[in-house]
Amino acid sequence: AEKLHIVGGGMAGSEAAWQAGNMGVQVVIHEMRPKVGTFAHQTGLLGEMVCSNSFRSDDSEQNAVGLLHWEMRQANGLIMQTADKHRLPAGGALAVDRDPFAQSVTDALIKHPNIAVEYGEITALPESGQWIIATGPLTSSALGAAIANETGAEALAFFDAIAPIVYFDSINMEKAWMQSRYDKGETEEERTAYLNCPMDKAQYEAFIDTLLAADKTEFHEGQTAGYFDGCLPIEVMAERGRETLRHGPMKPVGLTNPHQPDVKPYAVVQLRRDNKLGTLYNIVGFQTKMKYGAQTDVFKLIPGLEDARFARLGGIHRNTFLNAPTLLTADMRLKSRPNIRFAGQITGVEGYVESAAMGLLAGRAAAVEILGGALDMPPHTTAMGALITHITGGAEAKTFQPMNVNFGLFPPVEGLRGGRRGRKDRYKAYTDRAKADWLTWLAPQAAAA
Ligand code: FAD
Repeated sequence: AEKLHIVGGGMAGSEAAWQAGNMGVQVVIHEMRPKVGTFAHQTGLLGEMVCSNSFRSDDSEQNAVGLLHWEMRQANGLIMQTADKHRLPAGGALAVDRDPFAQSVTDALIKHPNIAVEYGEITALPESGQWIIATGPLTSSALGAAIANETGAEALAFFDAIAPIVYFDSINMEKAWMQSRYDKGETEEERTAYLNCPMDKAQYEAFIDTLLAADKTEFHEGQTAGYFDGCLPIEVMAERGRETLRHGPMKPVGLTNPHQPDVKPYAVVQLRRDNKLGTLYNIVGFQTKMKYGAQTDVFKLIPGLEDARFARLGGIHRNTFLNAPTLLTADMRLKSRPNIRFAGQITGVEGYVESAAMGLLAGRAAAVEILGGALDMPPHTTAMGALITHITGGAEAKTFQPMNVNFGLFPPVEGLRGGRRGRKDRYKAYTDRAKADWLTWLAPQAAAA
């Protein structure tokens, strides 16, 4: 039977290999380390955690990433079962002892009768055979160039510049309003794509002061090259002059505040709808290197966002990722080369857990195909389904930036109390529904195995 080749033995590639190997498919993992390194990896081990040793919250009732843990455990996920073995006390978070963790992942894969590991860099896109590319945020430059050549340079990013994303239901619409600049847009959908938060002069000056004083993260050596054109962090813009933001992303033109039609705002912060559901909005032009705590302090000063909750905070990193909504099919293939799937952070998810999750799906989908079938992707109501639906179609392609799993990606559960007070019940309802639907999706696969 045909072999499955997986490029990259990180979070996603390791999980993909494990899933496919367990389904009886012969797998070859191509891993460039230790022959070729990256600026972040330290070892030649598979499944190495490049930075923090935490898989974040393990609460599968109130937290979307905890729910993703749960779904992966039900699917016999290698990353989760190894994490459970090497767990360190960390309150509600799943933290692990990183070296024994990666050593265990490596041992499990090397010992697996259906899995082989070949060490060496892959530098071109394969012409034939079944492949999964899971080379992560630090994909080697030769392979990155080969991918850009196939997808077009504009569809492959080498940095992310993430503006913070806010839950719509935490925005105070008594202060904010919906309007596109100069009322542009043909359809209702386009006209409701933007929310606006007004500032008077005193509010703007206080905002700039806090922004300039905020704690920032420094770039690593070699991280900034070629980055800064056109996508400056807001704090860097503010450092260039107190008026720069007011003439840039915070310009108050082409907008009328219906709450105070006679007062012209001094500056306006715009938010743009970030998903088709309309549950998430990103703050336009607010990519930032501020530390997370500082970000919430600064953004709370924006009228309408005093109580904002963030689906994700802003950041700027070295990160190779595809414009997945335009390039990938719903089952994670490259549209232009259907024998190649992508998995992990390179598909535009963000985080160890999300990357491993996309590996789990890609590994299963490729294995089912090699065995002569076709795998339906999990329903949108599961954490896995919410993520894959987002990156392959739910996200706005034009502004696509990497995404963490969060409840804003799930279809709403109807008939529940909204707002802050209903949140606990709402999240429980989301996770109950997800668990039931995940088990239903898994059952026929377990029966087939
Ligand atoms: P990786 O785990 O990086 O695996 C990709 C593998 O592919 C690597 O082993 C690499 O050596 C190999 N490879 C690359 N190119 C080739 C090639 N051409 N041929 C063969 N092999 C190749 N996420 C978190 O949740 N928490 C964090 O604290 C965190 N910190 C991060 C810090 C940094 C500096 C970076 C860059 C990312 C961080 N991330 C973090 C984000 C991300 O979740 C992790 O990078 C995660 O490891 C991604 O999983 P992956 O499998 O997609 O990629």
